[in-house]
Amino acid sequence: MAEAVLSRPVDLAIVGGTVVPCDGSDPITATVVVHDGRVIDIAEHGQTIEARRTIDASGSAVLPGFVDSHTHVASNMLLRGLLEDTELFAWLDTMWRLKQNFDHETLYWASMCGLVEMAKSGITCFNEHFDAYAVTPQARALDDIQLRATLGYGFADGGVYADVGAWSWAALADFDTASAGAANIDGDRVRLALSPHAPYSCSEAMWREVRALADDRQLPIHTHVAEGLNETAFMQETYGKTTVQWLHDIGFLASDITAAHCSQLTASDITLLAEHDVKVAHCPVCNAKLVSGTMDLQSLLAAGVTVGLATDGPASHNTLDTFQEMKYAAVTHKQATGDPTFLTTRQVLGMATRESAKAMHRPELGTIAVNTPADITIVDMSGAHVAPLYDIEAALVYGSRADDVTHTIVGGQLVLDDRQVVGVDEEQVVARFTEHALALRDRSL
Ligand SMILES: [Zn+2]
Repeated sequence: MAEAVLSRPVDLAIVGGTVVPCDGSDPITATVVVHDGRVIDIAEHGQTIEARRTIDASGSAVLPGFVDSHTHVASNMLLRGLLEDTELFAWLDTMWRLKQNFDHETLYWASMCGLVEMAKSGITCFNEHFDAYAVTPQARALDDIQLRATLGYGFADGGVYADVGAWSWAALADFDTASAGAANIDGDRVRLALSPHAPYSCSEAMWREVRALADDRQLPIHTHVAEGLNETAFMQETYGKTTVQWLHDIGFLASDITAAHCSQLTASDITLLAEHDVKVAHCPVCNAKLVSGTMDLQSLLAAGVTVGLATDGPASHNTLDTFQEMKYAAVTHKQATGDPTFLTTRQVLGMATRESAKAMHRPELGTIAVNTPADITIVDMSGAHVAPLYDIEAALVYGSRADDVTHTIVGGQLVLDDRQVVGVDEEQVVARFTEHALALRDRSL
């Protein structure tokens, strides 16, 4: 360790834990040293570090915070468990009846409850896709619970979303005004993106406008692509092409895109995604639940496409729990390929952290390495359900639960400290959220 660091107390030392770096290397017992929001050293176990705060992580895994590369926290918290056992387009239709009645206070408490759930499950950064309404309530919640996020501003003008067409076009025409409540709320922690809803809910003119705005402002794009057979049929009937081919032909595909789902791809679609370095956010639980298809992960990885893991919103996944997503991804793709050696536990952990960070255009996140932002999750590995802990990476993917997370750290700041969300009365958040959600349901359905 450098002399300069030893000469003063550092902000935080995480001692005694097994560091799972998620950079392809093996786990090691070491001390993670954090100062000024960054990991400044991974010191030898047992070395004395003078720190303002020391966390004893003995018996725990210390890993990069989970990165959720596609979700809809604010809206979907209000739709969780409302409508089950149905197909995608009917489901979207009922969801829309509630969405029309959203108000800022309700969205704020929904966001707060979602942020509590994410902090408690070790998610440090998420990619929010807004379904065509204001981002301000969630930006406000992110002031109270300081996770890292990219807030994708929603646009749509067709299908079930036709009603927000005028609003979306106005927002595109004057994006500075539309996004004023969310821009630069905390430097680099919260960023903005552009989120056209889907090819079946946005006109060609809207896609072209989003592309022009993204190029002009250098903002990333976060959208749904090739999700389910209804979309495939719609695109064939409307344009005579697959979604990916059509997006390519209108000049939309580029490396700044996060494409969620991609569960209905042809071989030539995969080639196009690879050629344009489009990133994919993979949502295996949601895809299975809505029967949207099993994404061809093996071919995407073979083509060199970046694939991150994502929960999608709690309306279609029901939890914001990366542990569930990791286990489901592993077993789904082993079964789909007929190959139990496909998708190792190390690869799955990489998809939930490093690859997900790349997929949401934050490649500086997702590993524990010197000089990276200190976004760290500590997971208690002392439970009966992971004993005897022969292989900590296997235990994390197949045995660990969100409830095992004890600390969640974002930019060196504790957001979850010894299982308590810092600065927040969790019981009150759940109560206020439930009250607003029930009132919304009663006035909408
Ligand atoms: Zn989605």
